[in-house]
Amino acid sequence: MKKIVIVGGGAGGLALATQLGKKLGRTGKAEITLVDKNSNHLWKPLLHEIATGALNDELDYVDYLVQAKKNHFTFKQGFLTDINREHKKITLNEVCDSQQQTIFPQTDLEYDILVMAIGSTSNDFGTPGVKENCIFLDDQGSAKKFRKSILSTFLRISSRLDKKDKLNISIVGAGATGVEMTTELFNMVDVLGDYGYKHLSSSLLNITLIEATNRILPALPENTSKNIQLKLEKLGAKVLTNTKIVKADENHFYPEGQDPIPADIMLWTAGVKAPDFLKDIGGLETNRVNQLVVTPTLQTTRDQTIFAIGDCASCAKREGGFTPATAQAAHQMASICYRNIVALVNNKSLKSFKYNDKGTIISLGHTAQGVVTTIGKHQMSVKGCLAFFIYKMLYRLHQVSIYGTFKTLRLIRANKVYSSVRPKVNME
Ligand SMILES: Cc1cc2nc3c(=O)[nH]c(=O)nc-3n(C[C@H](O)[C@H](O)[C@H](O)COP(=O)(O)OP(=O)(O)OC[C@H]3O[C@@H](n4cnc5c(N)ncnc54)[C@H](O)[C@@H]3O)c2cc1C
Repeated sequence: MKKIVIVGGGAGGLALATQLGKKLGRTGKAEITLVDKNSNHLWKPLLHEIATGALNDELDYVDYLVQAKKNHFTFKQGFLTDINREHKKITLNEVCDSQQQTIFPQTDLEYDILVMAIGSTSNDFGTPGVKENCIFLDDQGSAKKFRKSILSTFLRISSRLDKKDKLNISIVGAGATGVEMTTELFNMVDVLGDYGYKHLSSSLLNITLIEATNRILPALPENTSKNIQLKLEKLGAKVLTNTKIVKADENHFYPEGQDPIPADIMLWTAGVKAPDFLKDIGGLETNRVNQLVVTPTLQTTRDQTIFAIGDCASCAKREGGFTPATAQAAHQMASICYRNIVALVNNKSLKSFKYNDKGTIISLGHTAQGVVTTIGKHQMSVKGCLAFFIYKMLYRLHQVSIYGTFKTLRLIRANKVYSSVRPKVNME
């Protein structure tokens, strides 16, 4: 029986393991194992809502063991550190609990087919002081840590233990994450003020959004990005474009050729790279941001038994450029990878991946704005309720790929009921 190992149970890997489990695991045609460093999954685009307490996250976690049991695959918790292509095995580091006690020892895992789906981390582009002083929104842990820290800052200001009239928050990188964090922070402080916490309102926040290029949201059409910039400014944010940060210290960002920007809280959301340990792992080809270079069938260029999908894969598009590092792309790659692995097991020919850009929507608190791709491949601007609905749909589609339609609909209902009794900002 073929051993198929998927490393990384994120937007791409979890959907893939679920599909393969149902198709090949259930019928005993292959043994599917999903490996992840965590014991549960949270869809990464929700991180900014976790960070600002906007989300009822309890209903959004997927427990890997339960998912595995129900979908005919095995789950193994572990942190991949190496690939031995000669002996077709991977090495997983030991896993420790919060008291640093080992709960799973270092181990090797054999494979016939390996899929790398370990995602990406923030890229500080080697800028001095950024790693030491900035907060990155890379995983559940960092998002929760940010929430706890900003919440206690707000509460200290409310009880006048901290007598600040203005809280300087600087966010570097005006892509989707930077823009969404800006709007959610204004929302967070307003909700807390509404709940009766004194001295808390959006006028407290002095948020500076810093972007190196000439406009925010470079992936969106110019007029949409201008429009969203106006909305951010109306909320009270300061937007600095053409501003390249060259250094950071404890309380400042240093832009090239300009005065330092003071910051009590410093967030870095300026681009991603695949994890550093991926560079040349197992002798595989990687690019300058450590992504594994793949052929159109999503197999790595130097080893046809190893696939890579999602943010950790570099997949050239036929029309030029590369598939973007988005959940949308990871999801589409998982579907083609699923077909190709089934084809490989059945000795059939493999299909090429073609990225189908369905548009980009940015969440702006209770509303959203962006573009969707129409049937003729034109981009149509959307905003308001329709845009918000489409934005939410991307997550719902992810849930459908994991739970199926019926359970997803029940979860949406449960979420609605729970939201009606929980605070609008998670205070834990
Ligand atoms: C705040 C935020 C907002 C975003 N908003 C959007 C959006 O609106 N739309 C959109 O399309 N995209 C969005 N993205 C991007 C999107 O989240 C990613 O492109 C997508 O999650 C990539 O999917 P993936 O499967 O490649 O990796 P991930 O979903 O990141 O999953 C990687 C998995 O690998 C595991 N892992 C990592 N290293 C190891 C290791 N060494 N060993 C074992 N397991 C490991 C991780 O625990 C994780 O479960 C957003 C990202 C962020 C941070």
